[in-house]
Amino acid sequence: MVSRPHGGRLVRRVLTGRRREIFEAQSGEMPRLEVPLERAIDAEDLARGVFSPLEGFMVEDDYLSVLNRMRLSNDLPWTIPIVLDATREWLESQGLSPGDDIVLLYNELPIAVLTLEDVYTWDKRLHAEKVFKTRDPGHPGVEAVYKRGDILLGGRLELIQGPPNPLERYTLWPLETRVLFKEKGWRTIAAFQTRNVPHLGHEYVQKAALTFVDGLLVHPLSGWKKKGDYRDEVIIRAYEALTSHYYPRGVVVLSVLRMNMNYAGPREAVHHAIVRKNFGATHFIVGRDHAGVGSYYGPYEAWEIFREFPDLGITPLFVREAYYCTRCGGMVNEKVCPHGEEYRVRISGTRLREILRRGERPPEYMMRPEVAEAIISHPNPFIE
Ligand SMILES: [Zn+2]
Repeated sequence: MVSRPHGGRLVRRVLTGRRREIFEAQSGEMPRLEVPLERAIDAEDLARGVFSPLEGFMVEDDYLSVLNRMRLSNDLPWTIPIVLDATREWLESQGLSPGDDIVLLYNELPIAVLTLEDVYTWDKRLHAEKVFKTRDPGHPGVEAVYKRGDILLGGRLELIQGPPNPLERYTLWPLETRVLFKEKGWRTIAAFQTRNVPHLGHEYVQKAALTFVDGLLVHPLSGWKKKGDYRDEVIIRAYEALTSHYYPRGVVVLSVLRMNMNYAGPREAVHHAIVRKNFGATHFIVGRDHAGVGSYYGPYEAWEIFREFPDLGITPLFVREAYYCTRCGGMVNEKVCPHGEEYRVRISGTRLREILRRGERPPEYMMRPEVAEAIISHPNPFIE
């Protein structure tokens, strides 16, 4: 028995059958809204159940409830608003009323049909304060919110097609992972969220979790990246190298999830857990400073917030950051190693990147040689 989807039922809203035919005949005359890739990704995630029980972009009631209480208006935990913005000019040019269907386009490609339920405005500074705990536009999530339109459109949607996805063959949707876990006979699954190539610290944390569950879902987020980040395909290759050499056969499912990253720290940690519950995970590994950026959040804030959600329906796993201890002679963490700082060798992602960027292999207590090889053999492992 994998976990129940959030809210009890997996959402699937893909335009099919008669409604699709009607749409195809009429879409030329329907109001259109061109959206950026981030919203097209949200639309596909909504339609494929990643954000169950949401069936579309949030209406004002849910939006305000999520902002103020971290719960939907029906009291179900939800921490990150999923909203669709538009400009006032666009709205005024359209003459819309509730019940109207709007075609969402990405690069002129029809992505989804939104059935309009609600049009409202948002206070972006308040939004930033609540979601990101800062109004500082230097925070990348806040900056992104400030750039969005002033009007929000709420309503259920139906997917026409997802935006083009170069990693389609690595993508599994919640319906698919659930079938897969069932076939494997897994009853407990720990999900691991990442945007990085694995070093020994990650492996330690994953194996600590795997000691107690049947299977592991390694779930890299693909999507928007900044300069110097590892390319998505490099992350996949690195994990394939790691799991094929250092994990027992058949205990890991590696799949990519295209979902927007907000860097909302603690709130986003809960969001990531809810999303993995929809994929069928029963446990979620929460990192130190999970989904954080800069110094906006305390190192363990992303752990503390879970106390507010005893009804989440997925168990957070708080595994302390691992380091190599020269006295223990292996990877350990503060909970299991009594030795002082002078014996602890911490693995720094920044340092690893510097080594790999030079085409060199990091020391073996930092990164498995097969993983390093998979990265440096790629012609262009970093985003430029
Ligand atoms: Zn030690």
